[in-house]
Amino acid sequence: MSVVKCFDCNINMCNECICIIHNDASRNPIHLMQPFSDSYILNCKLRVEVLWLNDLKYLPNGLLVASTGTHGKELITFSVNENQKQDIPLSGDSFRLAVKDENTVAVLIRMLNKKPSVAIVDITQRKVIRYMNNTIIPLQSYSPFIVIENHLFFAVNTSITVTDMSGNIQRRIKLSFTPYDLGYDVASRRIYCIDRDDCRLYCIDKDGNNIFTFPDPESANFHSLTIDNNGNVLVLCTKRDHNSVCVIKVDSVGKSSEVVITNIQGPNISCICFNPLTNSVVIAVKDTVNIYKRNEQVCSSDNYD
Ligand SMILES: [Zn+2]
Ligand SMILES: [Zn+2]
Repeated sequence: MSVVKCFDCNINMCNECICIIHNDASRNPIHLMQPFSDSYILNCKLRVEVLWLNDLKYLPNGLLVASTGTHGKELITFSVNENQKQDIPLSGDSFRLAVKDENTVAVLIRMLNKKPSVAIVDITQRKVIRYMNNTIIPLQSYSPFIVIENHLFFAVNTSITVTDMSGNIQRRIKLSFTPYDLGYDVASRRIYCIDRDDCRLYCIDKDGNNIFTFPDPESANFHSLTIDNNGNVLVLCTKRDHNSVCVIKVDSVGKSSEVVITNIQGPNISCICFNPLTNSVVIAVKDTVNIYKRNEQVCSSDNYD
């Protein structure tokens, strides 16, 4: 018997009960229901007081850091539990961000009438400690980048440019595709990239050598990726059928995938990130973070420490 959880009613019910409990359709216009076979179940929604969230990452201490579309709150840090929000104003619009360590993040910003650049921000001091001085890399505001061991890896067109934290170019990795998002798995020392329109997940080493490529013909778009505690890659994607938004999990050898979160709703679904401390998944939807907890009934066979 298939069971769903209605987030809004906060109850589990079988397919027959859905209609009885939700009998008055006008009173329950858009209740969010998820099948209990999903590996992660929506546990709470946290509305952040911003216009929208551009990018969202976990800091190693479990705080979330986000770039937003609200003036004066270009960068914010907050916790899911206590909601202790801190605003860090930047002197330009903020876009993608990458975490260096608990205290330092790099943010792609665009000041008025200027090309995008990167601000290195000290979270504790709540200020920019350095602007990366670089006019050579043709950054776009949506250019994805990551920090690996004191180096920045910027994906621009069909290459990744590696710089030190001051923006001095060290080397360039040639690719056969244009990455839309990047992730780094520290344990396996692998870089993961997604091609948005081709719906392929690429696994490469730090020199750009291809380890595997995983195509998903059932997806229409790949949006964002994150890596779980077991080295599996979670990809936020739009499926071809009904344009439904879901999360697929691709194993760390690129052999198989499964859908782990279904029925993600809302306009402006921007990104996904994994919290290794709590095994939970966070998805940013406009001005809200949706927190999904591991569904132990489905996942108990997985081998987590
Ligand atoms: Zn309901
Ligand atoms: Zn029932």
